Formats: sequence, structure tokens, C-alpha cells
Amino acid sequence: MAEERAHTLSPSAWNRYETCPRQYWLSRQRLPRKAGMAASLGTAVHASIEDLLQIDLTGRSDDETHWLPPMAEEFLKKRWEEEKEVFMATPRRPQWKEKEWDKARKMQRGALKMLIGFAGSSGTTPLKTSVGLWRNLLAKTIAVEGELRTSDNRLMGRLDMLFADIDSSGKLNGWIVADLKTGRAPEMELKPEVQRQLLLYRDILLSNNPNAPPVRTEGWYTANSTRYTAEGPSVLEQALEAWEATKPTTKPLEATPGPDSCGGFCDWKAWCPHWWNWRFESGTLGAGDFSDSVILLHHFDHKTGAGIAEICEPVDANGRAMPTGLQVPISFDGRGKEALQELLSSGHQGPIFIGSAMTNRDTWRVGHWCDVLPWSPIPDA
Ligand code: SF4
Repeated sequence: MAEERAHTLSPSAWNRYETCPRQYWLSRQRLPRKAGMAASLGTAVHASIEDLLQIDLTGRSDDETHWLPPMAEEFLKKRWEEEKEVFMATPRRPQWKEKEWDKARKMQRGALKMLIGFAGSSGTTPLKTSVGLWRNLLAKTIAVEGELRTSDNRLMGRLDMLFADIDSSGKLNGWIVADLKTGRAPEMELKPEVQRQLLLYRDILLSNNPNAPPVRTEGWYTANSTRYTAEGPSVLEQALEAWEATKPTTKPLEATPGPDSCGGFCDWKAWCPHWWNWRFESGTLGAGDFSDSVILLHHFDHKTGAGIAEICEPVDANGRAMPTGLQVPISFDGRGKEALQELLSSGHQGPIFIGSAMTNRDTWRVGHWCDVLPWSPIPDA
């Protein structure tokens, strides 16, 4: 019973479960978490916007302009540095790219454009945004970075912004749940996983506020400064079914390998035998310009990063590795080299998982973006 109470499902965990139940299960096994530049960038931008929605403007004149860009930049810088620190303290990480700072600023500008438009003055630049206009926005802001939880504690989510939708005559038309998105903007409509997430926010909010006005739920995409509305019936029932199916178990959940699950982003391949068997059986192991592989390292020069790798193949469903005798020159550089050296200095011997190595050349390249981890597949039972 106590365990059941402790089990809570978030929209991202639900999405992982829908992508591949094993991916969800592995994400709950306290395996080394992977830091990523895109995620850090997104977090810094989110936090800087949340900061701007919680500022105290007391004592400032409504007419004042030119204050927003420097303040926005200061918040972003502070959050950027915080994220960088967290990123660098994560052992499983690629390289921190300082040049992404411009990208972060661009994302923040995209978010500001939507906020200014929402405050009632689209077309006004951040520089020309007056304190009065921002006050107007703050008056419409009901909550920032709030935690949403159903009363039974089964479903939860972190809401970015909750606004009152007030028209020009001052009438309240409803609430808007706004989720800031720093990824690629949708071409036509929201992706099913985003749709699911946004609707879940709406439904948790409604379950806790039965007398709420009409609630609209939107993804705010910084890339094109466009708001996309998610519409559809309640997803609470489906979410509760997923909650039921994701209760903690010692036995790994089913794996659904394939191009959309393993072929997308799965951070847990070093612990999963299924992508490897799927690739092997479908004849796509090592195909493509970048590929995942399991190797034995026969030689490694710590100075140059050059080595010799022997390619392995899966010998059974549990991912036991069999050397094939096929050897390739391999070159490690940047963070890829550091990760290998950390692994070797931990005394690791045996197969190594290499994620996303550049394998379309005579010499494989394991660069700053690659995962280098001990091959430790967790068997199905
Ligand atoms: S590697 Fe593929 S099968 Fe394994 S957990 Fe990830 S998505 Fe699922």
C-alpha cells in the first residue's frame, strides 16, 4: 500500500512508457542520468521567463521602457550559469557548448514576443515594452512553475504558466495553461506526446478545480513564437491506466524495440539488450552514418585517443556479447575520450557500449556527443 502511494506518474514518464515500457522502467532504476545541452538550454530559458513573471515593479513608472532586455539577459545569464554547473557535475554528459548562448537568447526572445503579444501589444519590441504593459501581463498571471497533482497523488505535472484569459473589456473568459516549448515547432499540429502532456495538465487542473472557468491548454513555441492549442476529450482515464501499468516492479517491463523507440532517443541502451537484437536481426546493426555498437577495445593510446575495436554481436536475448573477430580502427576525442578514460580508470574490462559513433568512415570516430559506458544489459527476468 505504501509503495502504491509513493508511485506518481508525470506526463514525461507517461510518454516514456508509451514509447517503450522498458524505457520507462529503465528510467526508474537509478541508472546514471544523462545531461544534454538541449535540455539545459531549455531549463535556463524556462527559468529566466519564470523569473520575469515574478518581478516586483513597485515604485517604477508605467511609462518606463528599455528596462526589459537588460533584465531578461541578466536572468538568463544567471540561469545559464546554474545549468552549466549542474551539467558539468553530471558524470554522464557530452560537451558544454558555450556558443549555444546565442540560441538561448533567441529562444528567450521568442518567448518574450509571445508574452508581449499576450499582454495586449503584439508588435511592441522588448526594448519598447513599458513597465505598464508588463504590469498588465503580471495581472493576468495566476501561477508560475506550479506543481499540479491529483488529490489521490497518482498523477502530477509541472505547469509553466497559468494565465487568466481576460478580454479588452476586462471580462474573464477562462484560464490558459501555457507550456513553454524550446524544441522544434510543429509543422502542422502538435505531436501526440505533446498533446497528451498538455491535456493532462488541463485535466489535473480541472480535477482539482471543479468550478474552474473554461480551461485552454497551449504549447508556446519559442522557435516561431507561435501558440498551439491542444484540444480533445479528457485523458485522465488513460493516464490512470498508465499509472496502474507503471507501478514499481522488480521484473523489467516489456520492451518494444523499433525505429520509433530505440531509433529515436533512448538514453538507456547500455542497459537494454533489445535494441541490439532488433538491429542485429533486422540487418541494420552498424548501418547508418552514426550507430550504436558494443565493442571490445584491444588497444588504446591515451595520448592520441587512437585504438582498435573489435565489433561484437549479440549471442542471446539477454545481450551476451560475442566478439566477431572484425576489428576496426577507432578514434576517441573530446568528451568521448574523457568518458573512455574514466571508464578504463574505474577498472572496467569487457564489452563497451558506444552510443552514436560516427561509423561511416574507415576509422570510427567517438566524439564529444557519444555515450561511452560499460555494456551492462539487464535481462528480461
Ligand atoms: S533501447 Fe529500445 S527497446 Fe530498449 S528501452 Fe530503449 S527504446 Fe526500449
